[in-house]
Amino acid sequence: MKKVALVFVIAVLVPSLVLAWLAVRSLRDQQFLLERQQSLLCQRVTDGLANEVAGRLAARQQEFAGQVENLTANQEARAVGVQFDSRIRKNWALAEVGFCVTLAGKILSPAANARTEAQMFYLDNGAFLGNREAAEVYNNSLSTANNLANLTRNNVSQGLALNDVYGSSFKAAAPASLAAPVARQKMEPVRAATRALDSDKLKSDDASQAATVPPAREAPSQSTFSNRGQQARKVNPQSVNFETSKDASVDEQKYLSKVIPAEAEFRQLIGNDMDGMLARFLQNKLTLMFWHRLNREPDLIFGAQLNLSRVVDDLRGLVQAEPAMRDEICLVLLDDNARPAVVSRPGFSANWKRPFVATEIGDALPHWEIAAYLVNPAQLTQAAQTAKLSLGLFIALLLLAIGVGSWLIVRSLNAELKLARQKTDFVSNVSHELKTPLTSIRMFSELLAEGRVTDAAKQHSYLNIITAEAARLTRLINNVLDFSRLESGEKKYHFQPCDLTDLVRQTVATFRPHLESSGFKLECELPDAPVPVRGDADALAQVVVNLLSNAEKYSNGGKVITIQLAAQQTPLPYAEIRVLDRGTGVPRGSGEKIFEKFYRAHDSLSSGVQGSGLGLTIARQIARAHGGDVVYEPRAGGGSCFSLRLPTATPAATG
Ligand code: ADP
Repeated sequence: MKKVALVFVIAVLVPSLVLAWLAVRSLRDQQFLLERQQSLLCQRVTDGLANEVAGRLAARQQEFAGQVENLTANQEARAVGVQFDSRIRKNWALAEVGFCVTLAGKILSPAANARTEAQMFYLDNGAFLGNREAAEVYNNSLSTANNLANLTRNNVSQGLALNDVYGSSFKAAAPASLAAPVARQKMEPVRAATRALDSDKLKSDDASQAATVPPAREAPSQSTFSNRGQQARKVNPQSVNFETSKDASVDEQKYLSKVIPAEAEFRQLIGNDMDGMLARFLQNKLTLMFWHRLNREPDLIFGAQLNLSRVVDDLRGLVQAEPAMRDEICLVLLDDNARPAVVSRPGFSANWKRPFVATEIGDALPHWEIAAYLVNPAQLTQAAQTAKLSLGLFIALLLLAIGVGSWLIVRSLNAELKLARQKTDFVSNVSHELKTPLTSIRMFSELLAEGRVTDAAKQHSYLNIITAEAARLTRLINNVLDFSRLESGEKKYHFQPCDLTDLVRQTVATFRPHLESSGFKLECELPDAPVPVRGDADALAQVVVNLLSNAEKYSNGGKVITIQLAAQQTPLPYAEIRVLDRGTGVPRGSGEKIFEKFYRAHDSLSSGVQGSGLGLTIARQIARAHGGDVVYEPRAGGGSCFSLRLPTATPAATG
């Protein structure tokens, strides 16, 4: 049994569990892939949109440059510079405050005593624009950063202070000549008109610049131009989870902002560029500035602080999902506090800090992000969850099947074992049952044969014993033969009309002498009228004999056996032969089992009663073959009551 269990575990249980585990794993990978695919798709959308927003701001910056060029086209630049605040606001809606400052740090506009916004601007930015203090700014001009880096390198080698580099001697040089190629390219369209006019001057300026830039004296300190390091992003996109890398530092980077502020003075920041964008946080509020300078007047810088709400309005049209994705995602422009500035789906709300994916816009709008939220976050996991559920159910069913299968195997093994045990018992019981009568027959027949018994009465008694034992042997052998025929389906019945009253009477008459010789009293209660049935008289007589024989075997000292025959009319007409004894009765719970083959409720050792466990099995099979049954019920007052019930035949059928 243990071996079978081990084989079962190794051959069925372990492989099934391994398969289930593999299935769960592959499902998890599949879900991960699905989520990653979706996140990549959304990431492409937010990346594209962030670029578009940056592009729109760059276009506005160029628009501003165009405005400056227009305003100064036919006028003296300084004169325009003095009134620049009012002039630019009139001409260009995005401007909140216009300013004009010289490279030396003199602020021409707005005037310190102008309108309130201008005054505020002056207070906030005066020192920075006037190059009196360094400020933490986000500079959206790559060329400026390059220039600063180049100049810083040169200055380190030449020992020149940055302040001197951008000092009075620098003013004489044409900044355009110093601008990096990138900056030149970027500003090409805006300056195309002016460049043609100034090209000759620029050439000579280029030449003079090389001569006029004074040698550097000392390296810039970290405090005059330094990066403050990365800040944490304001949002925590879920997509970061789908991209977990093995390198922890790479993972950390995903939570850090890519935009890094630089601390520098205005003059240092603009370097040699012709225009650019700057962003500053003043009292935690973002301020955006565009600036531009003229080729013909490079020491004058025209700039404008932008009206942020108008900028946002300007970007509103951009923040729209493609029609194909409109029902799936909501795109949001988040400000530097992760609050929604523009939402693509009206009325949409979510945990703004937990977008599905998000992309930083960059230096143009530092710490602002384009975020995508799933309109129905459950949808993504729904398919996976359904698959998970199905797989779970499948595994549960598999385990259930394994459980039920193993239970059935164990049950059938137990049954087989029990049957094997019963068969062994049967063989030993039958051998014993054969041996006992054979011994008696041999002993008494030898006594008679040797002529040692002369007394006629004794001779008669010995002959009776021999007859009874032979009858017992016949019964046993009949039972065994009948059983094997029944089992193999070879048993043939000869159905014919017969009278049960007559059949019982005859059987009792044959069995009575044997019973009475053993001290039993057999009471026979038969009806006067015949009870017609259709059946095999020999087979039915065998059933009655088996029941009487059992009543004798399990009498346990109760020496009265009753046999009754009665015809009943309800529910259907049937005849009932009852054999009642006052013996041990069938132990509780074995009432049905005693009809199983080889089953013995009283085992030979403890009860001392021999048997094969086949008598009742055969009796029931015969009864059922006749459309009836044999049933057991305990007899009131002790003992057993076995009933053979048979359907009665109509007189016509009995013939
Ligand atoms: P056997 O008598 O050869 O063992 P049976 O099939 O005739 O086989 O009987 C099955 C079991 O039913 C018996 O072993 C016995 O335990 C129980 N049994 C049968 N008849 C009686 C009875 N009249 N009283 C008590 N127990 C009985």
